[in-house]
Amino acid sequence: MNNSSKYEPVIGLEIHAQMLTNSKAFCKCSTDFNSPANSNVCPVCLGHPGVLPVLNEELVNFILKMGIATNCHIRERSIFARKNYFYPDLSKGYQISQFETPICYNGKVNIRINGTAKTIGITRIHMEEDAGKSIHDFSDNDTLIDFNRCGVPLIEIVSEPDINSTTEALQYLQDIRQILIYLGINDGNMEEGSLRCDANVSIRPTGTTELGTRTEIKNLNSFKNVVDAIEAEINRQSKILDAGNKVNYHTMNYNAKEKTTTPMRTKEEAHDYRYFPEPDLVYVVVNEQQIERIKNELPELHDKKIQRYISDYGLPVYDAEVISADKSIADFFDKVVSSLKKPETKLIKQASNWIMTEVLRILNENKINIDELKILPPSLATLVEIIDSGQINHNAGKEVFNELYKSGGTKAPVDIINERNLSQLSDSSEIETIVQKILSESQAEVERFKEGETKLRGFFVGKVMKESKGKANPKIVNEILLKKLSE
Ligand code: ADP
Ligand code: MG
Ligand code: ZN
Repeated sequence: MNNSSKYEPVIGLEIHAQMLTNSKAFCKCSTDFNSPANSNVCPVCLGHPGVLPVLNEELVNFILKMGIATNCHIRERSIFARKNYFYPDLSKGYQISQFETPICYNGKVNIRINGTAKTIGITRIHMEEDAGKSIHDFSDNDTLIDFNRCGVPLIEIVSEPDINSTTEALQYLQDIRQILIYLGINDGNMEEGSLRCDANVSIRPTGTTELGTRTEIKNLNSFKNVVDAIEAEINRQSKILDAGNKVNYHTMNYNAKEKTTTPMRTKEEAHDYRYFPEPDLVYVVVNEQQIERIKNELPELHDKKIQRYISDYGLPVYDAEVISADKSIADFFDKVVSSLKKPETKLIKQASNWIMTEVLRILNENKINIDELKILPPSLATLVEIIDSGQINHNAGKEVFNELYKSGGTKAPVDIINERNLSQLSDSSEIETIVQKILSESQAEVERFKEGETKLRGFFVGKVMKESKGKANPKIVNEILLKKLSE
C-alpha cells in the first residue's frame, strides 16, 4: 500500500486578500501599489501616539459582499482587536484585526471536481490591516523599509478542514479567487502578493475520522506553490507516521526550489499576540437593510454564470467553464450573444468557438486584455451570422477576423468581405465548371476512385478549392463531385 492511499490528507486554507479600496483601512492614505516608497503614509497608519483610526466604510461593504457571496452569517455587531507583535516593518507594534467576533462566519462554497460537487465550509472572514514591507534586495547588509502597505485593508478567509486533496485545495482556491475578482474587491494577483495563502495540513489513516496534528505552511504565493507545498508536507508527515513517530505542530516554510517544507516555529515558540479589543474603534454595526442592498447589488457570480451558459445557451460544460473563467471575457461573450439577431444555440456555440480560439489567441499573442481588443462584440456576432449564412466559409472568416483586429475596429465585416472579394462561391454552375476542369485533368485519379479508392475524394475537393482560391462552398463542391464521379 502506498502513502497516497494509506493516509488521507486533511487541509484547511487561510486566504488573505488585499481589498481594492481607494484608501487604507483606518486613514485616508492611498492604497496605490505603484507609489514611491513611504509616500502613502500618515500618523494614523504609522501609529503615532494619540492618533485615532476611523474605519473605511468601503472595506465593510467589500467584506460583506464576500460574506454574502460565500453564504456566510453576518454578525450585526463585531469588534476589532489588537494583535501585538514586534517587527521592523510594523511601526505601530500591533496590527488591527478581528479576533473573537469576525464580521462573517459559518459560510460555505460549492466546488466541482470532475463534475462532482463538494461543499467546503468557511469558518470565518474577517478584516485586518496589512503591515509594511522589508526590502532586502538592495544590499547584503542593510534592510530597507517601505511603510506604504501599513494599514492597507485585507480580508482573511478561513476554511474548515474540509479539503482532502491537493486537487480540492487548488479548486477551492481558484473558486475563492474567482469570487473575489467577480466582486471586484481583489485583483487576484498571487505573484504580487495581493492574494496569499497559508495551508494547514494534517494526515490521518484512511477510513478514520479523528483529526491528526496539523502544521501550517506560511505565505504561499502561487497556485503551483500551494499544490507542491501541500504535496511535500503530506509526504513529510507520511514518513514521520510510517516511522512510528508523531507529527508536531509547527509553522512551516516552503522552499519552492527544493520542493520541501521545513519547520519554522513550534507551538511553544509560537507568537503570543496578546489580543485585546481595540479601544480606539467603535463597534462595526451592520443592519438588515445594508445586507439587503448588498445582496441586490451582487453581480452574477462565476458558478451561476456557468449554469446559465449551460441551461440558457446550451453551451457544453467545457465552453461554459473556459468562457466564464475570466469575467471580462464572459462580459464580451454576453455582448456578442445579445448582438446576434437570432440567438440560436448553434450560433451561440460558434461565438463561443471564436472566443475560445481566435480571441484568446490574439489576447495571448499580443499580451493584451479583452478591453484593449478593438473587435467589437457586434462585429463578431455579424461575422458568426455571415459564416452561418454560407456567404463566406470558415477560412475566409478567419481572414475577416484578423482584419477586424488589424483595422482596430474601423471596418465592418461586410467591408472587409467586399474589399478582399471573399464571398463564397455558391453558384452551382460555376462550381460545376471548375469540378469538370479538375476531373478532366485528373483522369488517372478518377479511374482509381471508380475502382473503389474513395478516399481520393479529399484530393478532388482540395483541387477544386484551390482552383476557386478557397472560395467555393465546400458543401456544394462535395455534392457536385459525388454526382459527377458516379456518372
Ligand atoms: P490559527 O489561527 O492558529 O491558524 P485557526 O483555528 O484559525 O488557527 O485554524 C486555521 C486553519 O487550520 C483553518 O483553516 C482550519 O480549517 C485548519 N485546521 C484546523 N485543524 C486542522 C487539522 N487537524 N488538519 C488540517 N487543518 C486544520
Ligand atoms: Mg493560521
Ligand atoms: Zn495613513
